[in-house]
Amino acid sequence: MIYIGSHISSSKGYAAMGRQALKLGADTFAFFTRNPRGGSAKEIRQEDVDKFLKIAEEGGFGKLVAHAPYTLNACATKEEVRTFAREAFADDLRRMEYIPGNYYNFHPGSHVGQGSEEGIRLISEMLNENLKKEQTTTVLLETMAGKGSEIGREFEELKRIYDGVKYPEKLRVCFDTCHVSDSGLDLSGEGFENVIDQFDKTIGKDQIAVFHINDSKNVIGAGKDRHENLGFGTIGFETLNHIVHHKDFEQVPKILETPYIKAEDSKKSYPPYKYEIEMLKQEQFDPQMKEKILEDNQK
Ligand code: FE
Ligand code: FE
Ligand code: ZN
Repeated sequence: MIYIGSHISSSKGYAAMGRQALKLGADTFAFFTRNPRGGSAKEIRQEDVDKFLKIAEEGGFGKLVAHAPYTLNACATKEEVRTFAREAFADDLRRMEYIPGNYYNFHPGSHVGQGSEEGIRLISEMLNENLKKEQTTTVLLETMAGKGSEIGREFEELKRIYDGVKYPEKLRVCFDTCHVSDSGLDLSGEGFENVIDQFDKTIGKDQIAVFHINDSKNVIGAGKDRHENLGFGTIGFETLNHIVHHKDFEQVPKILETPYIKAEDSKKSYPPYKYEIEMLKQEQFDPQMKEKILEDNQK
């Protein structure tokens, strides 16, 4: 059983996300817990959650992967930014208990010149304030591209966050293929086995809870973090498909965060996920995918 899904808009609530996932041929999905660039959160309705839980059970969904807002930075220099991070994190974990036993993924943070050691200390401190023994949600540290002063470019940094928390059993990792490639590691061919070996020695490969499956617009080591559609970037379909179907990670949900396809002469753009999920299920790259999406949507 392989769980594949994509990012889905949470603006219409849980049941709507569940129905959308089914339409895409997905059996897991990711969503923002609140406005990704602002921070405000909508109230959760139990009735909506109950409807969703039924859809998820009937659809045989794997674990869901909630994503914290991009503005959440536990190791910012500004105190009000760190305060927002703590409060949003706490509130998100409280709200996650409406859908018990799923994942909450966040970018560890950017130390903005304070150095990675101080950054890691502040991140661990926020986690220690918020991770509770009784919570059912597992918090995921995402592997990062290393843009600016991002922490999590090196597996070692994630390991040091684990080492600084009181309940490391509440933590696991979200492995983003675009970010890892941008951080300087080659995922192609034997490269993936070497990267996983390195991860295994540093953190333990059983700690990978989710893969973000994204191609990259940039070369290995670019440190840029710009996602590309599967097979259209520098990582390539073969490598991404190999990761998705890898025996060691069969139960691990795979989430796509690839860009929408833009029509050339209009401002409209269309989600690629149904097509990309199908390519991964068929294990077959379609070089005409972008044209097909535009055609199907402009009919
Ligand atoms: Fe992310
Ligand atoms: Fe990601
Ligand atoms: Zn990214």
